[in-house]
Amino acid sequence: MTGKLTLTAFGAAGEVGRSCFVLKDRDRAIALDCGIKLRPKQPSLAPSGVDKIAREIDSVVLSHAHVDHSGYIPALFKHGFQGEIHTTNPTIDITYELWKDHFKIEGERHWREENLEQAFDAMRAHRYHQRYKIADGVYATFYRAGHILGGAQTVIEWDGTLILYTGDINDKTTPLFDGFELPGNEPIDIVITEATNGNRIIPDREQVNRDLRETVTKAVQRKAKVVVPSFAIGRSQELEFVFGQFLDEIPVYIDGMIRLMNAITNYYIHPDWVSPRVFRYLKEKGLANPFEKENFTEITRENVGNPHEFRRFLGKTDQPAVILSTSGMMEGGPIHTHLEVHGQKQENVLAVPGYQAEGTLGRAIIEGQREIVVNEFIGRPTTVNLELSIQRFQYSGHASLEGIKRLLSHTQPKQTILIHCDHDEGTHAGQQLTNGTAPILPKAGVPIELLA
Ligand SMILES: [Zn+2]
Repeated sequence: MTGKLTLTAFGAAGEVGRSCFVLKDRDRAIALDCGIKLRPKQPSLAPSGVDKIAREIDSVVLSHAHVDHSGYIPALFKHGFQGEIHTTNPTIDITYELWKDHFKIEGERHWREENLEQAFDAMRAHRYHQRYKIADGVYATFYRAGHILGGAQTVIEWDGTLILYTGDINDKTTPLFDGFELPGNEPIDIVITEATNGNRIIPDREQVNRDLRETVTKAVQRKAKVVVPSFAIGRSQELEFVFGQFLDEIPVYIDGMIRLMNAITNYYIHPDWVSPRVFRYLKEKGLANPFEKENFTEITRENVGNPHEFRRFLGKTDQPAVILSTSGMMEGGPIHTHLEVHGQKQENVLAVPGYQAEGTLGRAIIEGQREIVVNEFIGRPTTVNLELSIQRFQYSGHASLEGIKRLLSHTQPKQTILIHCDHDEGTHAGQQLTNGTAPILPKAGVPIELLA
């Protein structure tokens, strides 16, 4: 007997961001993710209180690379953690790039550069469906999450108690994945699931793709530009498949960190990591690499000469084009120059394919702000009056409520814990998902006793 098993949320309790949970009994402690919370125009937030127990944690299980799940892991080393980080190979590659990128933005706010290298050295890769040991008497197995490349749900066996931690999951079919897997066949005792879309209806993806296709086709007919702000990993690659299906001649320009993430994604185009549909698409299009279509151009020095001048040059041509660029919420990055260059022409379109958090420039724009300042942070502030048309496309990388219901009816847990959702989403999801016992909405820092 090793005492009661508890789960403590150090973040992502009643909020989205800084996912960090610790499963613990008297002798063992396992962290599930350890991320930061990004905030517009303010420093990011750490999971609160995890520093104090970093030394006690045996190992970390990392569900996927997004910094709201991975961004605080190096800090655990700064606070005395000495264990291993268990994840998948693609997640290791993507996370390392995101950590380096984040260090450029926030420097030593949470951790030092040497902690980044320590964390990288401590990463251990596992495949889906491979059972491995994470502490004495504690084992883990990954299942597909359908969220981003390398993303995993984890089933943990803790002295015979089965616990499922979903991380971020998506139930919808996307260009690279077939939605999340229903893990194992046995009933699971405790399910810790994301409920990001707990109070949101997710439109049918095929319909959203058709709407985007129609918008782009019309813009192309009037020789206009379509500017698409997008997150580097995940949505950008999905959209390149969508554009790849129907744009064979119109140029598609790819800018910012998307290029690096395309290279990593292409490396993992293998049946272990992506849907078999990807191979059918490649065959049909005669491609070796989905991101190297003849009409796709990555904006690099090698391809276009001076990238900054090339972005400006695009504004002077009257050829139609699609421009896919970071950052996804328009907070910074090359999208600012594209907004300046193309934003003042009525015929152009700003196609917004992702969630825009409160306080971001992207949110202000979709809520109607038309006078914006771009490139402020790189010392070239420019005021732009947006004249182009602005359209939203409601893609989501997260599960619908129906998806979570399906997961719960398959796993039949004794206890359900809803995380990674704000108060409204969590409350609504809690009402909808009640099945005998109501789901638990954790409070940050307060341990929940698990029904082991
Ligand atoms: Zn995520």
